[in-house]
Amino acid sequence: MNPKFIRCEYCKAVIPSETCALATYKTVIEGKEYIFCCKQCAQRYQKRKGNDRK
Ligand SMILES: [Zn+2]
Repeated sequence: MNPKFIRCEYCKAVIPSETCALATYKTVIEGKEYIFCCKQCAQRYQKRKGNDRK
């Protein structure tokens, strides 16, 4: 059921799976792996998540 592409968890940009290993930014948040198109998206996503949890 895996699609041929993945999406940035933050901005939903489509990232072709062939390039994901090199061109994406991966990070683990609370034990789950998330994939982003860049480091900025990863940081923004983490920030937003933190804000939700007040
Ligand atoms: Zn992004």
